[in-house]
Amino acid sequence: MSTEFAQKLQTYADLIVKVGLNIQPGQRLVLGNIMNFGVNIQTAPLVREIAKAAYKVGARFVNVMWGDEELQLIRLQHAPRDSFAEYPTWQVSGTVEYLEREDALLGIVGNDPDLLKGQDPELVGMMQQTATGYFQPILSYTSRMAVNWSVAAAAVPSWAAKVFPDLAPEEQMSSLWEAIFAACRVNQADPIAAWQEHIDQLVARGDYLNHKRYTALNYRAPGTDLTVGLPTAHRWQGSGRVTSENGIAFTPNMPTEEVFSLPHKEQTEGVVTASKPLDYGGTLIEDFSLTFAGGRVVQVAARKGEALLRKLVESDEGAGRLGEVALVPHSSPIAHSALLFYNTLFDENAASHLALGQAYKLSLVGSEGMADDEFAAAGGNQSMIHVDFMIGSAAMAVDGVTDDGALEPIMRSGEWAFDL
Ligand code: ZN
Ligand code: ZN
Repeated sequence: MSTEFAQKLQTYADLIVKVGLNIQPGQRLVLGNIMNFGVNIQTAPLVREIAKAAYKVGARFVNVMWGDEELQLIRLQHAPRDSFAEYPTWQVSGTVEYLEREDALLGIVGNDPDLLKGQDPELVGMMQQTATGYFQPILSYTSRMAVNWSVAAAAVPSWAAKVFPDLAPEEQMSSLWEAIFAACRVNQADPIAAWQEHIDQLVARGDYLNHKRYTALNYRAPGTDLTVGLPTAHRWQGSGRVTSENGIAFTPNMPTEEVFSLPHKEQTEGVVTASKPLDYGGTLIEDFSLTFAGGRVVQVAARKGEALLRKLVESDEGAGRLGEVALVPHSSPIAHSALLFYNTLFDENAASHLALGQAYKLSLVGSEGMADDEFAAAGGNQSMIHVDFMIGSAAMAVDGVTDDGALEPIMRSGEWAFDL
């Protein structure tokens, strides 16, 4: 590890702890299970820096649930076919124990996008569905922002090889780390100040859109002609600054470039074509489009992974409806890198996107303490899944539909089309 790299890794860990999580003195930090995996053991160099940074700001205890993605592959190849409803439920109850005590939660992504390629889609689907089901207790805390939580990335060799197939193996890891550092503003003179300024911008864009009270968004791009209705009480916000139920301002995703809100679950009409592949649990779904009527997916088409996409939108009642609408300018640092990361945390911040499944209650004004059926009546979608897919590009135009049906430009050629 060169001194320069070690320094950047430390700065990055500091950002995750101070801006991402904003850990408070006395809080515990659990680095936990995201769906199937614990924290990939290959990310240990970053995780150790995060632990140091957390203790430095007063964390009381840092607990890491390690995992190994190769064990998942071994399972698919060798475990009995009828065993894929098995799940290590203690990982969820253990994490919930921390969440109940208002401790902080961090997920680290860093995995092989092609891990499950070529495996039996039936078993993969079953494994995903099982994991999603058992994951619900954690999602119920994170989706209502009960505590300060965040997700950040770490480079691992298999992922680096996928993003930089043409480089020599020893250069792949350093290139992926550099790309992560650039996307997370680690290279700026004062990264924490740069983040604050960036977050202020996102907040201002959200405020503008909130003031407009659009009834719908209208998207046009090659293969896309889509209208997404917005509930009357929808709220735009950035993932940059969120306040938890226990009053801690945090940043749930690092990087983040999006301003997002709540689509009305019954008011999406038309067709939308994805602008990037979707990595779903290690399988890529490529060149796909979804057709909506009355808010529900009525047709799916994909050049690759169509069966998995169909399974995804049919996983439960709300899985075929939208739960998030997010705007990202095409000039975001991640889009600027022109890399395909094969990872939603990065690719979603390179492009405007939508999500199938669960909506965030905080995207609805007055949702504090609201019961699920009230939230649904207001247009909020509910599902066991929340899967983002990218639709933005340099060719996308987005308009806001006003109360009286007029169209106002929000984005042109993939860039913000209004001044602040
Ligand atoms: Zn999003
Ligand atoms: Zn999302």
